[in-house]
Amino acid sequence: MTHILHRQIHASLPVASGGKGIELFDADGRAYIDASGGAAVSCLGHGHPDILAAMHRQADRLAYAHTSFFTSEVAEALADRLVADAPAGISHCYFVSGGSEAVEAALKMARQYFVELGQSQRRNIIARRQSYHGNTLGALATGGNEWRRAQFRPLLIETHHIDPCFAYRFQEAGETDEDYAARAAQALEDKILELGPETVMAFVAETVVGATAGAVPPVADYLRRIREICDRYGVLLILDEVMCGMGRTGMLHACEQDGVAPDLMTIAKGLGGGYQPIGAVLLSRKIFDAFANGSGLFQHGHTYICHPMACAAALAVQEVIARDRLLENVKAMGAHLVRRLGERFGNHPNVGDIRGRGLFMGVELVEDRSTKQPFDPKQKLHARIKKAAMAHGLLVYPMGGTIDGVNGDHVLLAPPFICDAPAIDAIVERLDDAIGAALRT
Ligand code: PMP
Repeated sequence: MTHILHRQIHASLPVASGGKGIELFDADGRAYIDASGGAAVSCLGHGHPDILAAMHRQADRLAYAHTSFFTSEVAEALADRLVADAPAGISHCYFVSGGSEAVEAALKMARQYFVELGQSQRRNIIARRQSYHGNTLGALATGGNEWRRAQFRPLLIETHHIDPCFAYRFQEAGETDEDYAARAAQALEDKILELGPETVMAFVAETVVGATAGAVPPVADYLRRIREICDRYGVLLILDEVMCGMGRTGMLHACEQDGVAPDLMTIAKGLGGGYQPIGAVLLSRKIFDAFANGSGLFQHGHTYICHPMACAAALAVQEVIARDRLLENVKAMGAHLVRRLGERFGNHPNVGDIRGRGLFMGVELVEDRSTKQPFDPKQKLHARIKKAAMAHGLLVYPMGGTIDGVNGDHVLLAPPFICDAPAIDAIVERLDDAIGAALRT
């Protein structure tokens, strides 16, 4: 009998007892390839000696000091590094303990920015129907996943949602990428005009949509148009790269691939690689200046912001990624993964779409390939795939459809950046077995 409240109240879960490299082990001695890095977290795999050593060194020196009294060398060093490598305009970092906290802080920064500028009528947040931004109330209100929001709705702040940029489901036959990018971005301008531009505070989007869709990248030009629209109306662009960022797509930040720099960016997961809980908001100079020239304080804070142990783990993770040139491996292994998925599933009758960037790939399952008809959600195909995958020694991150009646079950793959080609081959082989087994049950 467990005394831990898991999300699934009665689930009997295996006990994780260890991890090494790309594998996790349970207490019965079974090994699993961690092909999703948990939820796109474990970018260096498990038990990495250099990260453990850095954490030991930090623990020996200083585990904790409250930020109202002190800064720490390790937090300063991590911030210097992140700002040096950040998209244009980013000048500061705000360290928190995870993705939801980062999104909450970014929303509050956006609000305070406009209050400092004397534009307190700007309060509207626009986000997209197919999105996940976290489970705390502000982040949950921002996300577009109705299933997660429904029962908490009376407690959620008012937000506005537009259609996502999701080519497989929304690009029309014969429509060019350019035309589709323009149409999808136009939805933002329409919404801003409908609400009144002077009331809109921020547009929030995942650069590559993760948990709710299975690695859906924007079509070329979409984000550039979004940036233009935000600038036209003085709306802040918040890119949520909690899942898709920190190297997962083959560049440090996914938005670099779209040639776009946000005003605020949230990062987490791969920042600390799961060795410590850590997230951050990267903020641009104009936001910092508004605070510095205004009240002189960002009115926010948590007990564990800038936690030295978390910063030490994250700094070591980022140093190892650079030292071992792992982003090059993400690109090479990402290309290999796309090839292997294409070979295995390109003609599969129940695979509608294979998509993603780098080592962030999604496979969408459909009942009928020609009509793109999803499976009946009651069949819970995604849950059956997860179970079958675990039985085949594989961890993948499956989800059901999140836009009612539009999209279907998908599997998200986010293997560690240290994967080699045989590991990718094994992942695809086991996934094929798991999908086959789930479809037969
Ligand atoms: N934003 C995005 C894009 C995410 O994928 C997640 C987590 N899946 C979050 C925010 C919330 O992060 P956390 O679970 O660390 O609070």
